Amino acid sequence: MKVIRGKPLSPGYGVGRAVVLGAARLCLPQYRIEPAQVEAEHRRLQQALDRSREELERLQARVMAELGHEVADIFSAHLAFLRDKQFVERVKEHVAQNLVNVEQACRAVITDLAQTLASVDDEYLREREQDVRDMGRRVLRHLARHAGPGLAELPPESVIVARELLPSELMELTRDHVAALVTEQGGWTSHAAILARSLGVPAVTGAQQATAEIEPGARLLVDGEAGMVWIVPSEEDLARFTVCKERYEQAASLAAAEERQACVTRDGVPIRLYANIARPQEAVEVARHYLDGVGLFRTEYLFLGESEPPGFERQREAYRLAAELLAGRPLVLRTLDLGADKNPPYLAARFPVNPSLGLRGLRLCLAAEGLFRTQLRAILANFPRYDVRILFPMVLGAGDLQRALAVLRSVAAEVGLERLPPVGALVETPSAVFTIAEITRHVDFLSIGTNDLTQYVLAADRNALEMFEDCSILHPAVLRAVKTVVQAAAAARRPVCVCGEAAGDPAVARLLVGLGVRELSMSPALAPRVRQLLRASVCAELEHLAQRALDCDDPDGVRKLLHGGISGELPSPGTVPPTARPASPVQS
Ligand code: PEP
Ligand code: MG
Repeated sequence: MKVIRGKPLSPGYGVGRAVVLGAARLCLPQYRIEPAQVEAEHRRLQQALDRSREELERLQARVMAELGHEVADIFSAHLAFLRDKQFVERVKEHVAQNLVNVEQACRAVITDLAQTLASVDDEYLREREQDVRDMGRRVLRHLARHAGPGLAELPPESVIVARELLPSELMELTRDHVAALVTEQGGWTSHAAILARSLGVPAVTGAQQATAEIEPGARLLVDGEAGMVWIVPSEEDLARFTVCKERYEQAASLAAAEERQACVTRDGVPIRLYANIARPQEAVEVARHYLDGVGLFRTEYLFLGESEPPGFERQREAYRLAAELLAGRPLVLRTLDLGADKNPPYLAARFPVNPSLGLRGLRLCLAAEGLFRTQLRAILANFPRYDVRILFPMVLGAGDLQRALAVLRSVAAEVGLERLPPVGALVETPSAVFTIAEITRHVDFLSIGTNDLTQYVLAADRNALEMFEDCSILHPAVLRAVKTVVQAAAAARRPVCVCGEAAGDPAVARLLVGLGVRELSMSPALAPRVRQLLRASVCAELEHLAQRALDCDDPDGVRKLLHGGISGELPSPGTVPPTARPASPVQS
């Protein structure tokens, strides 16, 4: 038995068998072959090259139509490599001379080629290294396609153990088959973490050496409250764990029993609760949890995990389905926020080395106007029949906002719409906070994206494990930024909602209400506890708490305040919220 102590990422307790993704994905099958098998391996190579080429050609045609030549040309370099006779001959030679399977040969030749390109003194050729690696991954993916089960086909009660999980990979999972997630890397507000919470899957990050130390198939206990993983536990550990799990489930059902009650504080202040969703079908959760609507539809998830962007029809149908499931409640559709960790293959080459500071959000929408217009057309196709609202991500100020509005008006004119749906700005950059008065003049509502706002105010990467404590909404600078936006919204009589992960953390949700926030949007699975705790709180006390928090020196001061007794403590055992996470991971 061994215990790994990491950091809690998504609440709950999971029991199951390890599926170690690092091993399955990185170790392509390696085996020796007989001389008589050489021909067959050569044929496998040719098939993988043909499939890769067909895929790339389809993708290039599609991107050309949506985004124009400049972006589509990226794929020309990849196609040229696939057609390069020298490359093909080198792989075949490697197979024949070393009598190894084609995956091994292909990887060896690609690594060699990439290393040669990286070391030359010519910038153009050096940049081709990326193309070679990218193209290589595609060919290897086609070779390995039938090498093991995909994420959609995992056995029941799987605990996924990986170095890091990407949002597109989590989208592939069959929820009922996943008992828990254990990763070595990843921050509290990374999109993988957000998805884990919204799927209600317990998760632990910062589990050092997990992919090396955990054998595939090993029995694991995962404590998403304390951030601990037991490998091959003893009967005694299992018994203790089961007691905690049952207590957690009891507390969860108590919170669930209050869900029909209106979310009103003890002194009578109503708080609206909305859902954050990533797929249209998730809109069913709104009625299930008695929420007021969808406060954030992260539409970019429709664009991930696919080899090409979805066209108009598919998008229109996705937005219609979500709106239909809401039965009259509002649906806030955020336009594409691709970039950083949400990075589809057809745009990969447009994202720079530091993607969080590159082409993201509205900046990307305006740069890839074809893609942006198709999405707007698909949203408008559902208006005015449904209560759809448009939210622009990563707004920087009145300038980019007005350019986006001009595109929206032009698309509306094209489709003959005289009236626009309500339009909002997602405030998640320091620049938007400083120009909030000007932004507010151009929109009908505001939303605060505390995940990005925190990372940009504090210069702390939200995806980095090393920033787990530092990238904290509880820093008084971030709280003051939130307060500034809330005051500007009140002055202009515009509604303002918080849709970052902070809204779904019961202790932080109270602080936000104290700062004047009256709308919170979160993963539906987190809503019962937030509702329960707010109903037990007194708003006047929360305002006093928030005032003191704004005057603190650092997040630690605010943490202490939050856990000093004010009315409405969570029934035990509560979550271990990010406000009370353990310090850096220790292995035992
Ligand atoms: C945010 O940044 O808080 C937000 C809601 O957007 P995302 O997490 O998708 O970047
Ligand atoms: Mg954001």
